[in-house]
Amino acid sequence: MAKFVENALSKAEKFVAENKKEVAIGAAVTTGALLAAYAYRRAQSAVPSRGPYPVGSLPSDAYDAVIVGAGPSGSVCAYYMSRGGAKVALLEKETFPRDKYCGDAVCTPAIRILEDMGVLQELVANNEAHFADAGGFVSPNGTSYIGVSKAKLGEAACCAVKRINLDIRVAKNAARAGADLKEKFEVTGATFDKAAGLWTVTSATGTVVRGRVLVCADGATSRLATKLGYCTEAPKGICSRAFIEGGTHNTNFDGVCFYPKWSLPGYAAIFRHPNDELNFCYYLIPCGKEGYCGEVKESDLARLHNDAIKADPFISKAIGPNAKIERMRAASLRLGGQGLKTTFDDHLLIIGDAAGHIDPYTGEGIHTAMMGGKAAAESLLAMRSTGDFSKQSTKQYEAEWRRLYGHDFWMSKAFAEVVYRFPILLDAVASEMQRKGDSMMAKWAEIMTNMQPKTYFLRPHVAIPLGIAVVREFIDQKVLGTKKDNYQMLPMPK
Ligand SMILES: Cc1cc2nc3c(=O)[nH]c(=O)nc-3n(C[C@H](O)[C@H](O)[C@H](O)COP(=O)(O)OP(=O)(O)OC[C@H]3O[C@@H](n4cnc5c(N)ncnc54)[C@H](O)[C@@H]3O)c2cc1C
Repeated sequence: MAKFVENALSKAEKFVAENKKEVAIGAAVTTGALLAAYAYRRAQSAVPSRGPYPVGSLPSDAYDAVIVGAGPSGSVCAYYMSRGGAKVALLEKETFPRDKYCGDAVCTPAIRILEDMGVLQELVANNEAHFADAGGFVSPNGTSYIGVSKAKLGEAACCAVKRINLDIRVAKNAARAGADLKEKFEVTGATFDKAAGLWTVTSATGTVVRGRVLVCADGATSRLATKLGYCTEAPKGICSRAFIEGGTHNTNFDGVCFYPKWSLPGYAAIFRHPNDELNFCYYLIPCGKEGYCGEVKESDLARLHNDAIKADPFISKAIGPNAKIERMRAASLRLGGQGLKTTFDDHLLIIGDAAGHIDPYTGEGIHTAMMGGKAAAESLLAMRSTGDFSKQSTKQYEAEWRRLYGHDFWMSKAFAEVVYRFPILLDAVASEMQRKGDSMMAKWAEIMTNMQPKTYFLRPHVAIPLGIAVVREFIDQKVLGTKKDNYQMLPMPK
């Protein structure tokens, strides 16, 4: 082998010595082509440092940005833009306080943003946030673990806040920072004047607002993005919600996820509010065949939700026979960027649920809405200082949301598929929690509440013990038959 390499090298040396001129030309051409390709790529990805719309060019009746929708994404974007000195219109079709169907679980990244805005302090002072400590999950074969995570994590992985309280506080905070919050302003259309570099946004009553940039933050149905041609599909996921009156149920934990095997990778969850009220919700996550959420469809949601309350061995026990339960409500989930062609264009950004920024495994989107809203604000402030709002500039927002959380969407989607096809994985995690206790529970909580990305599962100190746990579970369930299925009491829905 060494002789072969030696021979090849001496042949190459001989060739170079005999063809010096040709070799020099070849090397120069290759280097030139590489440098040109590098310069071209840099030019393509570079954000313009100067553009046609410096701050002083904004007409006095126009805004730097018109944000449509004052949910978590729109209001956070409005807050940070206003704090940075921009002139912002925040348009909301409803009047606050308004409800929003949600599981109300606010994950760590959102808690950090709320703290920075001063909203968390208001929620705590008004007893509107309940920080989770006691929690866990019930696996598809009924293996359960409930433990405490705060001590291991050093903080709560999430808190429960009713959206009727959260959204008004975030929106009013944006208004206090300087945003022009216009309630009862239902946007029906938006047109862009290319020559003036301005959007004209129209309400159902004919009122008009003009702005340099349009930010679509109108939620999972993405009506505005659909109307403008950026969104091409209806959302494919769905989730229910029902509040349960405090003092009428049997629950003494803060948050538990239940994974009945017939609706995997979807799950049901119970979160506790400060006044002992519960939020019960049932997430159906698109997976498997087109139009399906595993083995079930969106149309199965009401039956699954109501059956779970009445007959699921774990959920019905936690809720109890005398619970006073609100009737089921439901709303769409647009997960992992589903149906969106892009999230940026000339003078335009799409954020939050409107962009499909919900985790494709957990169905959680408050934190991604807030992180994306903040990233959009920071990108827009940078563009405002250069005066360039072209596609070349607005794409910096997309690069940022991908860096923050979008890079994890593929792993969440893959995880949903794996859990759907191999429920034993969740059984193994629950068994491992029973063996190792709160330290394992805390690791799981970190990943599920986005303190860590899903790729954390691939790190050796998590992947190796999990791999061993799956093998152990397989032997217990399939070889020795020592594990009984506690979830076999309900029939698989047709
Ligand atoms: C049942 C359910 C349970 C969920 N549970 C959780 C959970 O526990 N934790 C979690 O993190 N996420 C959860 N999610 C997801 C979460 O609710 C969303 O990701 C989050 O609300 C996204 O915020 P957003 O600001 O992008 O959109 P939204 O909160 O939907 O806000 C959009 C706003 O735009 C307004 N709007 C709409 N159209 C117009 C218009 N034409 N003109 C003006 N205003 C308009 C709406 O009134 C609304 O205020 C759940 C979702 C559902 C459906």
